Amino acid sequence: MAEIKNFKKVLIANRGEIAVRVQRSCRELGIDTVAVHSDADSGSLHVKVADESVCIGPAKPKLSYLNIPSILSAAEITGADAVHPGYGFLSENDEFARMCHNWNITFIGPSVDCLEKMGDKIESKKIAKQAGVPTLEPIYISQLNNDEIKAQVKKLGYPILIKASAGGGGRGMRRIDRDEDLLTAIMTLQEEAKAAFGDGTLFIEKYITEPRHIEVQILADKHGNVIHLGERDCSIQRRFQKIIEESPSPVLSEETREDICNAAVRLAKFVNYDSVGTVEFLYDQEQKKFYFMEMNTRIQVEHPVTEQRTGVDLISEQIRVAQGHKLTLKQSDIKFDGHVIEFRICAEDPETQLPCAGTISHYHRPAGLGIRVDDFIYSGYTVLPYYDSMISKIIVKAPNRDQALIRSCRALGETVVSGIKTNLTLHTKILNHPDFKSNNFSTSFLSKKI
Ligand code: ADP
Ligand code: ADP
Ligand code: MG
Repeated sequence: MAEIKNFKKVLIANRGEIAVRVQRSCRELGIDTVAVHSDADSGSLHVKVADESVCIGPAKPKLSYLNIPSILSAAEITGADAVHPGYGFLSENDEFARMCHNWNITFIGPSVDCLEKMGDKIESKKIAKQAGVPTLEPIYISQLNNDEIKAQVKKLGYPILIKASAGGGGRGMRRIDRDEDLLTAIMTLQEEAKAAFGDGTLFIEKYITEPRHIEVQILADKHGNVIHLGERDCSIQRRFQKIIEESPSPVLSEETREDICNAAVRLAKFVNYDSVGTVEFLYDQEQKKFYFMEMNTRIQVEHPVTEQRTGVDLISEQIRVAQGHKLTLKQSDIKFDGHVIEFRICAEDPETQLPCAGTISHYHRPAGLGIRVDDFIYSGYTVLPYYDSMISKIIVKAPNRDQALIRSCRALGETVVSGIKTNLTLHTKILNHPDFKSNNFSTSFLSKKI
């Protein structure tokens, strides 16, 4: 039986909007917060609104937000009971979680065992299969010679996708369409994965053409209780990274929705999952079949979509279960309301679609009925080149999808970010595209239609 440890002070090992978001839940739970920041981030909002703050190193993430000794020292000095890792950075790092526990600091996330098992795309695929969750049959190439790889890929048929087992954030993936490109691509991706993730292990799976990305939000405690909070459709992506997410998915029948949500719960129960997490699937729209892709063992960027639809504060729940409390919510308590869409606003050049830093001369955020904005920027804030380019998330709710689209246009139209380049016009273009409006799209929408 897990003991209860109520936190007095939580250190948030992150920056940007998610650090601000975690502070909001802490505040409502009566927990003090410690912000950590790099030299470059001393003027950031997450530092200004925290109860305490500690500088943990120079601007480069490796030296600050990924600097485990520095973060643990900050927790020790400030007497924090727990660390919330946010997303990205150290959120899925089992070594970090293990060290937190060794220092008697609670890591607000799943057990080290879950992080280890589900953080690896190959291992988690094997587990999903054991749990009876449909997966794409992979080719594990590490034990094969070149001829064997070619023979197995031939059986699978092109297009295929080569993936790094340790990959994430849309990186470490390559689509291949022809035999001639196969071996060179494997070699280069292996080197890239080694450099980026410290692990060159690759596998191959069938590339599903024109799929939807559907994921299921899971909430679990340390007492064996697992519920789901419905799905999110994250098919509007660029370079394998999400930029618009919505719920409910407009392509699922009620029957498939139930199947996919139950599959996610089954998997979470199978691995004794004990925090918030997301099970990601690919949905083949023609075959009407779904396949397990990976599990994200952390809170996700798009969690507000689910919060707005269900009214559940996912981060408060995540903190409560980390303290050892039982879930107070049962599956039947989760009620879904309306249609919600989230837009990730990024500081980027519309021409190249690459991140673009600079000082915001004026910022005006949208408001009004059905609008939520999770951000950390303000007029006069300088967007830094060292970190992720996402500066704000606009989350729009309305009774149904058509009304949510109208309200989204209104909200994006109200938004002003001057002085820097952003992807606001890209979002407007997507919103006004007939295929997006009529729900006729897949993960390749952006590369093909815009
Ligand atoms: P979500 O599934 O929550 O949308 P993303 O995959 O977009 O999450 O990743 C969330 C954040 O974490 C992004 O800023 C992304 O760049 C970063 N990220 C995720 N995984 C990795 C990784 N393995 N290495 C580096 N950055 C990552
Ligand atoms: P990451 O860790 O970067 O989030 P994922 O495995 O979740 O990696 O894949 C990211 C995106 O890549 C998916 O949302 C999907 O659009 C695309 N993708 C992944 N696997 C496949 C596949 N087998 N076929 C087609 N698209 C895929
Ligand atoms: Mg993913």
